[in-house]
Amino acid sequence: MNDELHTNEPTGPLENRWTRQRFDMGLVNPTNRKKYRIIVVGTGLAGAAAAASLGELGYRVKAFCFQDSPRRAHSIAAQGGINAAKNYQNDGDSVWRLFYDTIKGGDFRSRESNVYRLAEISASIIDQAVAQGVPFAREYGGLLANRSFGGAQVSRTFYSRGQTGQQLLLGACQALYRQIATGTVEMHPRTEMLELIVSDGRARGIVTRNLVDGRIEAHTADCVVLCSGGYGNAYYLSTNAKGCNTSAIWRAHRHGALFANPCFTQIHPTCIPQSGNYQSKLTLMSESLRNDGRVWAPLHAADISRNPAELPEELRDYFLERRYPAFGNLVPRDIASRAAKEVCDAGHGVGPEVNGRRLGVYLDFSAAIAELGESVIRERYGNLFEMYQRITGEDPWRTPMRIYPASHYTMGGLWVDYNLMTTIDGLFAAGECNYSDHGANRLGASALMQGLADGYFILPCSIGNYLARHEPGQISSDHADVRNAVAAVRARIERLLNAPAAQHPPEVFHRRLGQLLWDHCGMSRDPAGLQQALQELPRLREAFWREVKVCGSGAEFNQVLERAGRIADFLELGELMCLDALARNESCGSHARTDHLTAEGEVQRNDADYSYVAAWEYSGDPGAPKLHREQLHFEFVRPSVRSYK
Ligand SMILES: Cc1cc2nc3c(=O)[nH]c(=O)nc-3n(C[C@H](O)[C@H](O)[C@H](O)COP(=O)(O)OP(=O)(O)OC[C@H]3O[C@@H](n4cnc5c(N)ncnc54)[C@H](O)[C@@H]3O)c2cc1C
Repeated sequence: MNDELHTNEPTGPLENRWTRQRFDMGLVNPTNRKKYRIIVVGTGLAGAAAAASLGELGYRVKAFCFQDSPRRAHSIAAQGGINAAKNYQNDGDSVWRLFYDTIKGGDFRSRESNVYRLAEISASIIDQAVAQGVPFAREYGGLLANRSFGGAQVSRTFYSRGQTGQQLLLGACQALYRQIATGTVEMHPRTEMLELIVSDGRARGIVTRNLVDGRIEAHTADCVVLCSGGYGNAYYLSTNAKGCNTSAIWRAHRHGALFANPCFTQIHPTCIPQSGNYQSKLTLMSESLRNDGRVWAPLHAADISRNPAELPEELRDYFLERRYPAFGNLVPRDIASRAAKEVCDAGHGVGPEVNGRRLGVYLDFSAAIAELGESVIRERYGNLFEMYQRITGEDPWRTPMRIYPASHYTMGGLWVDYNLMTTIDGLFAAGECNYSDHGANRLGASALMQGLADGYFILPCSIGNYLARHEPGQISSDHADVRNAVAAVRARIERLLNAPAAQHPPEVFHRRLGQLLWDHCGMSRDPAGLQQALQELPRLREAFWREVKVCGSGAEFNQVLERAGRIADFLELGELMCLDALARNESCGSHARTDHLTAEGEVQRNDADYSYVAAWEYSGDPGAPKLHREQLHFEFVRPSVRSYK
């Protein structure tokens, strides 16, 4: 492809851009919509919302997920809430403030037009969810309640106790099931997309494997939408569901969809610390807990083993409140994570030793319980306290929780234009799997907002606009491009099943990849470490293809085979993450390069040279992708030093 990236964003006053774009968009006559077939891969919040909305419009939709039900998508895990600029609290919120907070929170590495649209649509998402019956928390008088989240000084987060994602997903799935019942949506659960079908430069379908009986099938359509979630599991240990993977977008990337900002990965500060080497999963404690919980570590390293409840106030270091008095415990995630890491690296970490290190700080509710009473705290966070107790065996009502940062969310993903279309014609990407809106750091409670804005409000317009310019009709299942895609899937499965020196289960390679990424492309990065990872990653990939052991066959239920395919893609993506981190010779948001920090240890951007979205093109060699730059223009917000002090 040529170097130029067309964002297709409108110009003019920011407030009118989305309205104008929608007016300028082509429409498909209601009676013609049933002639178009749309494939939606993924039925988490973004995909379920998109499939339901497109079905409601009358298009014929085929939706796919690898779980046994759309209701089990990873979105169900979202705990804390969803942002919206309703200003119910009358505390100074507005669309402009949400726009500004998001641009600033992302450290000025996102596109203004998209972010403004997200803030604008946010209020409609809440109306939509309420109409579906989503049980948001309410004030005594009946109004919807709000709480605060990191990176904002207003309360704009709507929530359903600690189960916001689950309740929103029930709403979206209810809308989806209605379309399944009316026949506009054909749902394919336990079906994994393993390849994209591209014909004449246009996305025309996907190849899938039925995860129950191993059947390989091709599905063709007029366009394809990927809503396949984030790639945080590249780090092996993460707060993501174990099944979350990169395969759908990585397959698309290999076909020409540019991958944007792969190194922008979010490490969340409040996770339950790792307790041993056997672990394969970490658990998030919602950011909402930082509303009332205070983060601290012992002031003196000598006190790290003392009972925290007995450590007097003057021997505690409330390091976030000390370093960032304006935002205190509610600083954004990247800042809170790095601060916790520094405290632990300096020997003040608490909790059991893992690999000779104590990686944990306290999240303490004793002051909030004393002030507000246990019943108020129980009402706000009861299920989170219970979850913590069940996992750690410690009682957070009596002793502070222990937390430590963990891989959680990925801001990077497929590059999309203003219409959410990738660089492959007819291939759209929505939700966490696209790169849009969050720049170098996502603010808490903004992922649900983005996924639902994409699915309920943006795709139904932009896909209609795309289809209006194309005659309906799918390519035949006999087409050479379809047959080639199916053959490629079969060949890859055979290769995974027949490694020449098969001896290790796929997890062995995934753990090693995760450690490399965590050490060198995690909370802090430096050129030497990235170079080292870049030397080791191709060797690890080679070892994988030589030694991976997958028992059984492809023609049956085979979870090891599923995992092996996903890990093979993570191994390529990991290299791109490190290349991107090395090429971005600055610090910004989550991307903290130790060679680009201020004297106070804060990230130091280089706007003159790096105010761009890095969009990588697959070249055939994972070690030599081509970089395209989308230059970012700030017409409405002046990039400034991001301060939360
Ligand atoms: C523990 C936790 C708590 C969170 N809490 C919050 C919160 O409070 N607020 C907030 O805003 N955000 C939160 N987030 C982030 C947020 O939950 C996610 O970003 C969001 O839910 C992603 O939605 P999605 O629809 O893009 O993807 P997902 O919900 O991950 O759905 C992906 C879908 O794609 C399907 N899929 C993937 N690959 C394939 C394939 N190859 N073939 C077929 N199907 C495929 C899956 O089956 C699934 O249906 C949290 C994240 C975590 C990990």
